[in-house]
Amino acid sequence: MHPELLKLEKNFNPSILTKVHDAVLDKYQVELWIKRDDLLHPIISGNKWRKLKYILNHALSVGADTLISMGGAYSNHLHALAYVGKLLNLKTIGLIRGEPILTPSLQDMREWGMELRFVSRSDYRLLRQYKQWTDLPDLTVRQYWLPEGGAHTLALQGVAELVHEIDMSYDILCVACGTGTTLAGLVNTAADNVSVLGFAALKNAGFLTADVNALLTQPRTNWHINLDYHFGGFAKTNAELLAFMSDFEARTHIPLESVYTGKMLYGLYDSLKKQTFQANQRIIAVHTGGLQGKRSILR
Ligand SMILES: *Cc1c(COP(=O)(O)O)cnc(C)c1O
Repeated sequence: MHPELLKLEKNFNPSILTKVHDAVLDKYQVELWIKRDDLLHPIISGNKWRKLKYILNHALSVGADTLISMGGAYSNHLHALAYVGKLLNLKTIGLIRGEPILTPSLQDMREWGMELRFVSRSDYRLLRQYKQWTDLPDLTVRQYWLPEGGAHTLALQGVAELVHEIDMSYDILCVACGTGTTLAGLVNTAADNVSVLGFAALKNAGFLTADVNALLTQPRTNWHINLDYHFGGFAKTNAELLAFMSDFEARTHIPLESVYTGKMLYGLYDSLKKQTFQANQRIIAVHTGGLQGKRSILR
């Protein structure tokens, strides 16, 4: 590990396991624990650090001085990248999907020194073909490209550390999916007797299965992605989801956001009611963070 990263990691908090107590879980006789990656860092939140860690290590080892990546105007990935770039004294460039606007997330990124370049939706889609760090056309020699959401095999190594931190036995491991990279890391590392469940945050996310398979270092069969809890599409919500979330937050004092973790937990509780789990199973759900994205108004 590059010394700069080791130094940086000293500022991180442990990701603890919090047990959830509630009547629904008791009724179905299951245990639910939350792996609190949201606590890792106030800004470089949750799975974004897990995914970036070994990519950054590689970027530093090849002598990169500039990190370039892509994302939406609320992107947790770019938000984390901009901050980490500032801490590591690396230049950062964000290719932002759609019309120029300034969300609170983008405003942070700019303050932290990221150069924002807005690209049309059609051009944005084309950028998805570039997967390897040298793939983006016209890169200069010390520029390093990261695909959308850090979807690279190197990201799986950091997610593996999350799995290795879990020091008890369990049956089910759940996570929300955007690009499916974090899920791939869990699938790659979890034991064969663990079922790994993803909950897609996007509508029509059937493509995720192939994307996850492409990232795995060996084929696995103990995983599944539930596509039914997108609530109309990425970042869409409804009153039922928001009510579930505020109820969960009030009972557990664990903050959620509605794009990923709220939908995952809604899906998990709904699956419980549909009796898809067995009595005495222990479930661990990963809190992937993302709480910065909650702000929707301009500062
Ligand atoms: C980015 C993000 C995800 C999705 O991660 P992928 O690896 O792209 O599937 C899930 N939860 C939160 C909070 C995120 O910010």
